[in-house]
Amino acid sequence: MLDGKTAVITGSTSGIGLGYARAMAEKGANIVINGFGDKDAIEKERAAIESEFKVKCVYSAADMTKPDEITGMIKMAEDTFGAVDILVNNAGIQYVSPIEDFPDAKWDQILAINLSSAFHTIKAAVPGMKSRKWGRIINTASAHALVASPDKAAYVAAKHGIAGLTKVVALETAQHGVTVNALCPGYVWTPLVEAQIPDTAKARGITEEEVKRDVLLAAQPTKEFVTVEQVAAYAVFLCSDAASSITGAILPIDGGWTAE
Ligand code: NAD
Repeated sequence: MLDGKTAVITGSTSGIGLGYARAMAEKGANIVINGFGDKDAIEKERAAIESEFKVKCVYSAADMTKPDEITGMIKMAEDTFGAVDILVNNAGIQYVSPIEDFPDAKWDQILAINLSSAFHTIKAAVPGMKSRKWGRIINTASAHALVASPDKAAYVAAKHGIAGLTKVVALETAQHGVTVNALCPGYVWTPLVEAQIPDTAKARGITEEEVKRDVLLAAQPTKEFVTVEQVAAYAVFLCSDAASSITGAILPIDGGWTAE
């Protein structure tokens, strides 16, 4: 389905981003993975994508806070594969603090990674997509692009911002064969989430099951985590011809969270 296409996925060395990379490779796309982490572990994931799915996969260490590295990554992808057909803006971090104590540097960093990086990737990739009359841009937003929670000022502002950016670029590219959408996951079962469960259980004196149900999934009516595979499958669908009329959409995948 994606044979011959190239997908650049920011923040794809773990979690949801790695899920997108593997799902798109499975459909035949060549992949640029990006993000931080242990060098050997990243190389292992890169090589696994190539050998399991018989596609090419290259790694970019571009830092999503640095505009010149971001545009360099898009150029590297175009030079290597001839095109960026699919762009997934997924890199993201979180910081939790009441507004009066929220560090200025954390605000700047979250806005840079979770929002401004998508501006820079999109700006660099759209000309090629328009000229080839085909493109798919998928932004990982969050349920926090639609609703707020306390103590997450920068994250919620950035995620609402990316919803706005999604709509604007969708309008600008609507007649050029390019779609631009935002996926809004609720709580997704990623290594990041999994790792905090034992500590939270210990800190609150409750069981790990209670942490999942009463702390993490308090807002999620299904009381089930969304899976990486479900989010990745949604993104693959958005790359299909069947989804070519879906653009500028802010799409929840949140177990009913934003229905409340
Ligand atoms: P994760 O921590 O597993 O993945 C984040 C990725 O971003 C990693 O590859 C990391 O190396 C990369 N990254 C961080 N800073 C970077 C930088 N400066 N430059 C380049 N890469 C950088 O987290 P995840 O849970 O997979 O989250 C991925 C996206 O999904 C984020 O945008 C997050 O906000 C969003 N999201 C996650 C959940 C969830 O419950 N896990 C829910 C909704 C939305």
